[in-house]
Amino acid sequence: MKVKQFVFNPFGVNAYVLSNDTGDSILIDPSASNERERSVLAAYIKDAGLKVCRVLNTHLHLDHVLGNAFVERTFGVKAEAHEADTFLLDLQTEQGNMFGLPFDDPAPALGGCLVDGDIVEVPGIKLRVIHVPGHSPGGLAFYCENTGDKSSEEDAPALFSGDILFAGSMGRSDLFGGDGRALVSGIKSKILTLPGNTVVLPGHGPFTTVADEKMWF
Ligand SMILES: [Zn+2]
Ligand SMILES: [Zn+2]
Repeated sequence: MKVKQFVFNPFGVNAYVLSNDTGDSILIDPSASNERERSVLAAYIKDAGLKVCRVLNTHLHLDHVLGNAFVERTFGVKAEAHEADTFLLDLQTEQGNMFGLPFDDPAPALGGCLVDGDIVEVPGIKLRVIHVPGHSPGGLAFYCENTGDKSSEEDAPALFSGDILFAGSMGRSDLFGGDGRALVSGIKSKILTLPGNTVVLPGHGPFTTVADEKMWF
C-alpha cells in the first residue's frame, strides 16, 4: 500500500490517498478547499494513474468534508462515513461561520454509511472501521493491519485516526455532540489496544505510534 499525504485547507487537515500496485485507490478526508488544492489532488491522482474506488470521511466536521463535492463531481464516487455524523452535513453553514472558514462547495449527502467492524477493501488494501465517538458522535478510525510494504524493513500496521487521536493529544470534545468521557474510553479500549508499533496517521499534525501515545492515558 502506498500512502500519499496532503495537508489541505486553513485547518491543516491531513488528506490521504491510499493506493495499490494496480492503481486502485481509497481517499480519506480529501479535504481540498480551493482551486489550487483541488488541482493538486486531481493532478496527483491523474499522474499516478489511479482509479478512485472509495472515499472515506473520518468524521463530518466541515474541515474534513471540504473536498467531498469536488471528488464526487470529478471521480464519480460518493463519500462514506458514520451515520451518527450526518447531521453535521446540515450544519455546514453554521460550522463555517463558527470557525470563520469560508466554503463555496457544500458537501453532498453520503453515498453510504460505515459502522464499527466494517471492512473497506480494494485488492491489497484492507481497512477495518473503528468507531470511537466523543470528538464527534460518528468519529471513525481506519486500521490497516498490514501495509504490505515489503520493501520497508518495518511492515508496521497503520491507523488513520481522524480527530480522535493526535500526536500528544486527542480531539476536542466541546463541539456538536462531543463527549470527553466516551472519547477517552474509546481511545483506551479500541485504539491503545492495537499493536504498539502501529503508525498513527491523524487528521491533523504529525504521525505518531500507539506505543508513544499510551503514556498520555
Ligand atoms: Zn473534527
Ligand atoms: Zn479536524
